Amino acid sequence: MRCAVLTLFPDMVAPVLGQSILKRAQEKGLLEVSVRNLREFTFDRHKTADDLPYGGGAGMVMKAEPILLALEALCADYGARRQGDADVRVVVPSPQGRPFTQELAKSLALDKRPIVFICGHYEGIDERVRLALHPEEISVGDYVLTGGELPALVMIDAAVRLISGVLGDDTSTTEESFSEALLEYPHFTRPAEVRGMAVPEVLVSGNHENIRLWRRKEALRNTYLKRPDLLRDRNLGEEDRRLLNEVMQESLSHVPVR
Ligand code: SAM
Repeated sequence: MRCAVLTLFPDMVAPVLGQSILKRAQEKGLLEVSVRNLREFTFDRHKTADDLPYGGGAGMVMKAEPILLALEALCADYGARRQGDADVRVVVPSPQGRPFTQELAKSLALDKRPIVFICGHYEGIDERVRLALHPEEISVGDYVLTGGELPALVMIDAAVRLISGVLGDDTSTTEESFSEALLEYPHFTRPAEVRGMAVPEVLVSGNHENIRLWRRKEALRNTYLKRPDLLRDRNLGEEDRRLLNEVMQESLSHVPVR
């Protein structure tokens, strides 16, 4: 995955990219990311990248020209034909965008094009950037953050871990929450007992089929209890229907969960 983050606050982004799995993905050549300060694309003495809103009102608005110039420079670096060309995928994190999902993370991970994230800040970005570039606007939730830097990192993180070879074991991403619109089963690690709470016996039984069934049932239980909306339009197979029925019976009769 090749991407760039255009921001007024590179220090909000670069340190996170230098840690843990994101760092290792870059070392392995599976993620290439450049963080560019939009002030590089301003030409006045004060490196002005934002200004007062036309019409008055609170806050500052990010100027269009530095962003358009930065994108042109990146397109040139990437060898893309021209600004806004389909050769480059342009993403603007925005509370007005479509919700970010695991599906969208997958689509970013599989995209062969360079992806440019344009991070808004303050009141947002001059509308003419949207009119000129027709970017994808993507929201990380129905709340308002101070800037697009954290959302851009969220999207990069969620996408990169889906690239084969980034995590130690690719099954980590096929079995986890949302990989098939179910939440994941719970995990336990050593010691076998923590403050009187024992690990479920089945997990130390060595019986792989029973472990598989337990995990499937607990994934269904998690989904049923925490995100029942995910089960609403799902066509479950016979085994899942049986396990979910058991979960529902157990929660009706208040059998202790797990
Ligand atoms: N005035 C804007 C509005 O009401 O739609 C909000 C601007 S917000 C304070 C500044 C920047 O943070 C936005 O331009 C966007 O890049 C980013 N941002 C804030 N909340 C976000 C969210 N939920 N998802 C994605 N980006 C967000």
